Amino acid sequence: MSDVTSGGHRGLVMDEPLLFELDSGGHCGVDLPEPEGKARRLGGVKERQSIGLPGVSEPEVIRHFTRLSQKNYAIDSGLYPLGSCTMKHNPRINEKVVRLPGFAMAHPLQPPATVQGCLELIATLAHWLTTLTGMQGVAMSPAAGAHGEFAGLMCIRAALTARGDARRRILVPESAHGTNPATAALCDYRVDTVPCDARGRVDLAAFERALDDDVAALMLTNPNTCGLFETDIMTIADMLHSSGAFLYADGANFNAIVGRVRPGDLGVDAMHINLHKTFSTPHGGGGPGSGPVVLCEELVPFAPLPRIEADGDVWRLIEHDSDGLAFGRLRSFHGQMGMFVRALAYMMSHGADGLRQVAEDAVLNANYVLARLSGAYNVPFPGPCMHECLFDDGNLKDTGISTLDIAKAMIDEGYHPMTMYFPLIVHGAMLIEPTETESRQSIDRFCDVMVHLAEEARKGNQDLFHGAPRFAPWRRLDETAAARRPVLTWAPDRPA
Ligand SMILES: *Cc1c(COP(=O)(O)O)cnc(C)c1O
Repeated sequence: MSDVTSGGHRGLVMDEPLLFELDSGGHCGVDLPEPEGKARRLGGVKERQSIGLPGVSEPEVIRHFTRLSQKNYAIDSGLYPLGSCTMKHNPRINEKVVRLPGFAMAHPLQPPATVQGCLELIATLAHWLTTLTGMQGVAMSPAAGAHGEFAGLMCIRAALTARGDARRRILVPESAHGTNPATAALCDYRVDTVPCDARGRVDLAAFERALDDDVAALMLTNPNTCGLFETDIMTIADMLHSSGAFLYADGANFNAIVGRVRPGDLGVDAMHINLHKTFSTPHGGGGPGSGPVVLCEELVPFAPLPRIEADGDVWRLIEHDSDGLAFGRLRSFHGQMGMFVRALAYMMSHGADGLRQVAEDAVLNANYVLARLSGAYNVPFPGPCMHECLFDDGNLKDTGISTLDIAKAMIDEGYHPMTMYFPLIVHGAMLIEPTETESRQSIDRFCDVMVHLAEEARKGNQDLFHGAPRFAPWRRLDETAAARRPVLTWAPDRPA
């Protein structure tokens, strides 16, 4: 029996054309009378051709976008095991609070006297971020993790320039997130890679060899992208500091240690925090990111503007600094206000004990997955993990089935694939982050599926894998072509 229906739909999953292909010729979502007695604003200029907007009625537009939205996999529809992305539940209390009219209706250009509550909220969140990290200050405006990295490195460079010490190198371990070397390169530094050792941690001897007085900073992700704690972090910090360099920490994985460890105590000088990961603000199509960067005493004066300061009972928005040390302004306005409200609501509803439990449960869940799937999949770095666990397809080598095939088969089983082929240091990597919000039952169901797939692979059931996904609207796309030659505009006569 063919698994394609006459109209291309599968059950309630519609085969959705592009909006342009739905063009029903001249339909319009609104029905307004022809304006009378109004001259055309184009003056004498004649339209030569239609501007090509599709003509669709209101119900057609609504159905189109509703059907598209139903093709999304979301944290609200199921377990989302993407390692490194921290796809955790977004508590609805956050949404309730952010919709309070005082927050929802505030405008960034309102005079500070009329938005004192908003400024106080930003200052309160800043206070808790510095408290949780044991740092001396924080720049709130970065709009994402990578933007926070940029802000942190700009502060480091400004501090070094102020010392009259123009260093040109940034060291980045090979297990780093891709944004780290990208940020360093964007800031015009030479990026030098430090290898990992057999335990998946920074190779200390190689680091020592790479360190000289031209190194401005090392960018260290901790826990790192293999889901492992960098146990030598304090030694690394000491070595950097004695050579006059800074330790930048990529804090995107702070959810593994929040409430348990203060990065400031480990010798970190600057670290961004992804509010959209650790503090549950929606992301990945569901909302903007927010990447405040916490700073040590020496870096605080160089932080970008604006700043919020208390002046007696009044909150002031500082847009120009008197000493001229701030490296500038990073973006419009004050940061992602909606994310600040959600993150603070998350912190306050959890409390100190609740945040500690977030980290503990995230680590417990990941280790549970690690224990259940060890054997089914290869574990490149033995030993307990932090908030995410790393596997590879090394033990499936002779089956002709690879990480990509496993990921495609997961789609048929109703799961979003894990992060694959990242981190780059592990061949055929599968990185799984269950987060603390999954229950034991939900993780068990997921692990049952993963074990089943490994068994089928070992039985040599090639058809199951190479035909997957069977039940998705589309099978395998040419992802390389899509990345190399993206077609981003529609043309009426382009072949399908
Ligand atoms: C997510 C992530 C980033 C980048 O954060 P964005 O908000 O996507 O810019 C950087 N480093 C690590 C380790 C991450 O997991």
